[in-house]
Amino acid sequence: MPGKRLKNAPHADGGLEQEDSRALLRVIYLVTGLTIGFFGILQALNGRTPLATVEACACLLLLIGAVCLGRVRNLTPWIYLYLLPTYSFLIYIIVMPEASVSAFVWVFMIPVMTYLLLGKRAGFVVTVPFAVVAIAAYMLKHPEQLEGAGLIDLGNALLCGLLIMLFVHVYESRRAAAQLLLRHMAESDGLTGVANRSSFQRELGNSIALARRSGHALVLVILDLDHFKAINDRWGHEAGDQALRHVCNCLQGRLRGTDLLARLGGEEFGILLRDTDTAHALPLVEQLRAQIARHPLDYRGEQIPLSATFGMAEWPSDGSDGDQLYRCADRRLYRGKHQGRNQLVFHDVLIIDGIRTDAG
Ligand code: GH3
Ligand code: MG
Ligand code: MG
Repeated sequence: MPGKRLKNAPHADGGLEQEDSRALLRVIYLVTGLTIGFFGILQALNGRTPLATVEACACLLLLIGAVCLGRVRNLTPWIYLYLLPTYSFLIYIIVMPEASVSAFVWVFMIPVMTYLLLGKRAGFVVTVPFAVVAIAAYMLKHPEQLEGAGLIDLGNALLCGLLIMLFVHVYESRRAAAQLLLRHMAESDGLTGVANRSSFQRELGNSIALARRSGHALVLVILDLDHFKAINDRWGHEAGDQALRHVCNCLQGRLRGTDLLARLGGEEFGILLRDTDTAHALPLVEQLRAQIARHPLDYRGEQIPLSATFGMAEWPSDGSDGDQLYRCADRRLYRGKHQGRNQLVFHDVLIIDGIRTDAG
């Protein structure tokens, strides 16, 4: 598929989406905190005050963590902060003095939680060492299990653990790939592969918010192909579709990695040029216009001439938000249509003392 791919598409290996991870992690913090708190009360009732105190502290920290997790931006440290001590504790309960043989079953939780929270790659990297250490700890603690019926039990446990890890690995790979595809489909235009209108609007809003902080200007360009209906009427809809893809390729070749091209609908496109102003963007946008006009579409041996009219607006001088900026660029584009098409308009008509000044 030609055209620019969306830059903010998630990596296929990132685990659950941020908000799903947050919800899951908060539940995990809350449930673990309450469970430890419950065991702390039991320890206190049994007179084991030091252990009860440690468990009460852990319970408090986990409950505070569950509250903080609603606000934090980067969840990864919080995930490791939970997983690493928890897994170390799981290994400890395998080797502690009065350890039960069945304490090992908790190790089966390791791949499931790790893959869900960290994704495929980190899930594998964290799971394998902990699983190996847990198995070694179990063998050292229960050498009697390494012969006879015990060996069969151990074999069953290892095989079951391996299958669980294999299943979550395959599941997580497929889930992440499907999510990536869905995200791409929701954010891009099916015909040209460039961003669609809604993702462009969102990016425009985000870029204006960033520009407010950095103080750098940005430029919005809207272009509409000239007499496009005539192309459909004369060469057919398929030729029209090819022309749309061809225009995207023409534009794409000249844009920077930080610029965003989108199809806003029909034969109208938007270009977001970040960290620049009208004066600096002008030569580039003029080149884009000339590029389209100079490169007719080669369709079944025939040359279909193309051109587009461009309207340009700068943040913050031409509008303080996305809507104002869009209306300004659109107004200029339609003035370009009235003035004869195949041109770039970057200024409004000024009427000074009844004299019309057409600056762009
Ligand atoms: P102007 O220079 O004033 O912009 O004239 P125009 O013919 O380009 O504009 P008009 O709005 O009259 O026609 C736009 C045409 O674009 C009509 C519609 O059939 C066509 N169109 C919209 N979306 C698509 C599409 O996805 N594929 C094709 N092939 N044509 C499309
Ligand atoms: Mg048109
Ligand atoms: Mg149009």
